[in-house]
Amino acid sequence: AKEKSAIFIIFGGSGDLAHRKLYPSLFRLYKSGFLKDHFAVIGTARRPWSDDYFRETVVTSLKDYFDDSEEVMTEFAKHFFYQSHDVNDSEHYIALKNLASKLDDQFEAGHNRVYYMAIAPRFFGTVAEHINSEGLKASGYNRLVIEKPFGRDLDSACELNGNISKAFPENDIYRIDHYLGKEMIQDIPNIRKNNPKLEQALNNKYVSNIQITLAESLGVEDRGGYYETAGVLRDMVQNHIMQIIGAVASDEPESEDADVIHKNKTELFSSLKELSPEEVDQAFVRGQYDTDNLGDLKAYRQEDNVAEDSNIETFVAGKIEFDTDRWRNVPFYVRSGKRMPKKSSRIDIVLNDQVKELGIRPNSVVTLLIERENGHSILINGVNYKEAGQDFIKFPEEAEFDKAREAYESLIIDILSGNRVHFTLWDELRSTWKYIDTIRQRWDSQTPEFPNYLSGSMGPDASEMLLERDGNSWVWDD
Ligand code: NAD
Repeated sequence: AKEKSAIFIIFGGSGDLAHRKLYPSLFRLYKSGFLKDHFAVIGTARRPWSDDYFRETVVTSLKDYFDDSEEVMTEFAKHFFYQSHDVNDSEHYIALKNLASKLDDQFEAGHNRVYYMAIAPRFFGTVAEHINSEGLKASGYNRLVIEKPFGRDLDSACELNGNISKAFPENDIYRIDHYLGKEMIQDIPNIRKNNPKLEQALNNKYVSNIQITLAESLGVEDRGGYYETAGVLRDMVQNHIMQIIGAVASDEPESEDADVIHKNKTELFSSLKELSPEEVDQAFVRGQYDTDNLGDLKAYRQEDNVAEDSNIETFVAGKIEFDTDRWRNVPFYVRSGKRMPKKSSRIDIVLNDQVKELGIRPNSVVTLLIERENGHSILINGVNYKEAGQDFIKFPEEAEFDKAREAYESLIIDILSGNRVHFTLWDELRSTWKYIDTIRQRWDSQTPEFPNYLSGSMGPDASEMLLERDGNSWVWDD
């Protein structure tokens, strides 16, 4: 691997995301040589920690994921430094700036900076503005990485975007949607390119419907406080599900240029068929989990930090349509929920009977598994594509998947390489928030009958009916 050089400044360096995702990913990049001698990581948070103590916390986290020798981890941790920091205090940004330039000299890091917002979203704007006004930017590149959620509706997203774009040009903003870091999602363009029959079938002449399921078996666990402010519509549909649709349904780009790829995705999202408030009732279903059929598990309303009368949804199913020549009248059925029978993330492309013109067996279903299941990544009619007896899909050797990179590892390589393909642009967010806001507002104006599905079930019955009305049914039915 070609070594990269940069100083990382991680805001929220003592937090959960930093310890569970960022430090392990940086360590993998270190082991694979992307990061070697010319980098340093400054962790910031409020608490007054010493560098040594910070390094200990980093090594302790790494031990949960790796069995490398302590020596290697300690060597890696020598690149870590700590600066206590309050987001509103200008003095602290000056201290950060001085530390960053000192480390830049010490590690010969090429005057490049990655500013990573692993901090509560309400601070994203403030921190970005201070980085700019306090002159932290160095003479190399200055890239701002923003975690989710990017706003909680269109207005707040606009406001946040206004704040960060005063401080950073759009080209330097990397908005994370970690689904875009997942191997299967990144492979979709290649799958489409290398399978001309499939690509030929991806339109309303040959597709009956497309289904996207992001199912979890867990409940909210210890994140009830956060979840009460979000709900699955905001947490999964506006971002991850929409971006997955973007990967499957955007026009094939004429080049691999980030701008061209994003242009096609932006065009798709801007053609989302808007719903009227009444249409929301027909097109979207919400649910909240109850206990399981034995009464053992906690209902959502019994979880810690959740209101006893909470109307937050933990399940959503919906029908999304696009007003384009390619996709008009093809339903994109989407679904995500907690406490479903098992964890599964999949895209089911249901073809119609016209596909026999293309030499594909009528009504075939192509499934792309976003997380491999039982060692499989692509299924045709429920069996591994290699054994399906139809050869319209070829896929690079599965062995490559065994070396699959963690989503965050792959996204950090992109950030260091200046590759914006796998990040979300503002125009895409604007369209998707606008669409989601209509649903949210309709729901907020009505009182749901919650809880309405048992833990361990496929969600409320209305989710099945949503498809039955169109003469369809969910492919993944446990
Ligand atoms: P966390 O609460 O574990 O960590 C927050 C960090 O911010 C801590 O290091 C804390 O010291 C610091 N902080 C808080 N107030 C501060 C202040 N006034 N000044 C300076 N520092 C302050 O949160 P987290 O779970 O790590 O999440 C961080 C960000 O990542 C959030 O935006 C979250 O939405 C996003 N995110 C987290 C996850 C995850 O799995 N944890 C997943 C996706 C996105």
